[in-house]
Amino acid sequence: MPTFNGIPTPEDGGRISVQNNKLVIPDNPTIPYIEGDGIGRDIWKASQRVFDAAVEKAYGGKRRVVWYEVFAGEKAFNKFNEWLPKGTLDAIQHFIVAIKGPLTTPVGGGIRSLNVSLRQVLDLYACVRPVRYFNGVGAPVKHPEKLDVVIFRENTEDVYSGIEFQEGSDRAAKLIEFLKDYGYQVNQDSGIGIKPISITGTKNLVRRAIQYAVDHKKKVVTLVHKGNIMKYTEGAFRDWGYQLAKAEFRDHIVTEDELWKDHNGQMPEGKILINDRIADAMFQQLLLRPDEYQVIATPNLNGDYLSDACAAQVGGLGLAPGANIGDAAAVFEATHGTAPKYADKDVINPGSVMLSGVMMFEHMGWQEVADMITNAIVKTIEQKKVTYDLERQMEGATKVKTSEFATAIIENM
Ligand code: NAP
Repeated sequence: MPTFNGIPTPEDGGRISVQNNKLVIPDNPTIPYIEGDGIGRDIWKASQRVFDAAVEKAYGGKRRVVWYEVFAGEKAFNKFNEWLPKGTLDAIQHFIVAIKGPLTTPVGGGIRSLNVSLRQVLDLYACVRPVRYFNGVGAPVKHPEKLDVVIFRENTEDVYSGIEFQEGSDRAAKLIEFLKDYGYQVNQDSGIGIKPISITGTKNLVRRAIQYAVDHKKKVVTLVHKGNIMKYTEGAFRDWGYQLAKAEFRDHIVTEDELWKDHNGQMPEGKILINDRIADAMFQQLLLRPDEYQVIATPNLNGDYLSDACAAQVGGLGLAPGANIGDAAAVFEATHGTAPKYADKDVINPGSVMLSGVMMFEHMGWQEVADMITNAIVKTIEQKKVTYDLERQMEGATKVKTSEFATAIIENM
């Protein structure tokens, strides 16, 4: 059995593998997990109980997950004096599918966000964030149920590439000088960041978004960009997105141009519409016409903003799951952070990690488990047994602890 971070992997676990581009899942897969910092400790405990109960109920002991803890964040730092040990990355690469809680971003020079490092080192190029409404949850809009989108956010490029030069540094000064030679005036007292967007990164992401639409019979994929201002990055993202759609999904798609030019505005039966929207307009669109959008593909920063805004629109971050997916591995994680003020208090909403688990089980093809968890969460919220964040927005709700919420979900399976 291989060993990572000096800790042997469980002997009773099998290894997920890839054959012909498809995952092959044993009945007893070893799945590495990172508990996470802050509220990660509360929500992981509650979520793991729910996952195990759902697998047991769905398969009556024929299948089970063998959990294997790997370390990142504060727990890793305390144990190994490293924020993101290589053994953790190796374990995720080895076992292909992993799940994690939120991680503190260490404050101080030279240490990058652990989440960003994890995504870049493992080339988890697509951040997938489904946003839907759960009946009964208080929301700030009149019709939260009209929003049901899956956001595909590019996960490795854009201003997240980490190429930044501090104001006053030699490098910033050199760049400013260099730009002057090309006729660009940049204030001497500027910090500078670089925004790379590549054909490869864009096409990998848009391919996944359209494939998702094909697999799930969605009707529209929207490329969201700020190409009117950033022509060679965001504008290119839009152009490469359309190119890929036409080159690789010709039989499945119609672009918005073609819809009017060739089809008189009438969508042909069974086709997926590929359109694009400018990012600022998209924030309005999602508030005013949410039901016109289903799958969104967008560069990194737009995707970050949009997914939090969408989560708020349906009632908050407590129920916002996510996945980071690449060709070689996938890591499932909640959208929110470590909310340190609630850590170890057993109060926080674990729904986001539970729903990230739902995405993980769907990714593995264990659909029965995914459905069982989703249905039990829906039922528990309808019974108005909810954590503080939902209780404060719901009339007549009973406030339960994190652990009690998990128990209620298990009882509702
Ligand atoms: P945060 O941890 O997401 O918390 C902000 C607020 O969101 C909380 O105070 C709470 O609002 C609400 N919230 C978050 N999770 C919730 C949950 N499970 N249930 C209910 N409400 C929830 O954001 P932050 O305070 O800006 O960041 C704290 C740390 O997390 C930072 O170190 C940051 O870098 C890190 N972070 C990590 C990740 C990640 O690991 N993927 C993502 C984002 C941030 P109320 O107080 O109003 O209830």
